Amino acid sequence: MLFAHDTEVALAAAAALVNTGRGGTEDLPDEAALDRFAAQWQWTGARTGDQAELDAVRRLRPRLARLWELPEDDAAALVNALLQEGGALPQLVKHDGWDYHLHATSPRVPLADRMAVEAAMAFTDVIRTGQLGRLRRCAADDCDNVHVDLSKNHSRRFCGTACANRVNVAAYRTRQAGRAGP
Ligand SMILES: [Zn+2]
Ligand SMILES: [Zn+2]
Repeated sequence: MLFAHDTEVALAAAAALVNTGRGGTEDLPDEAALDRFAAQWQWTGARTGDQAELDAVRRLRPRLARLWELPEDDAAALVNALLQEGGALPQLVKHDGWDYHLHATSPRVPLADRMAVEAAMAFTDVIRTGQLGRLRRCAADDCDNVHVDLSKNHSRRFCGTACANRVNVAAYRTRQAGRAGP
């Protein structure tokens, strides 16, 4: 494992959140979609379930997406800003079958602020271990999703298996077509 488990989950969750707003489709069109996203990524804590909460979560996405583009010093400044705005105060906690991990905000803080701080905490690990290069854009031409390459040998290229399979199938067809020539 490259980072602590909770850090790796938080990085994957941050990439997933950024990706809900990419590719020309809105994957968080309403509160029901946000409920599904929160359940999928096991967000516990207080929810207001209203439009303001949804808007705040959507507004967070382009800010987090900047981390995939910024040089190290600017990424560090953004992480610091997110931590400061969220009043981050790291605490070790155990809950819901999870062993000790860090929470840096109270469960009563609005969802978007908790998402911002959790992502920022995870990015502190990425930056101080010099691993910012693991933040990648999907290698599929027709996909602008982001991902975090947590593989041992820096080999992850695609945002998910759908893109990996699509590109591999296309490459296979191209090879077959080459072979089928006269
Ligand atoms: Zn937790
Ligand atoms: Zn992709």
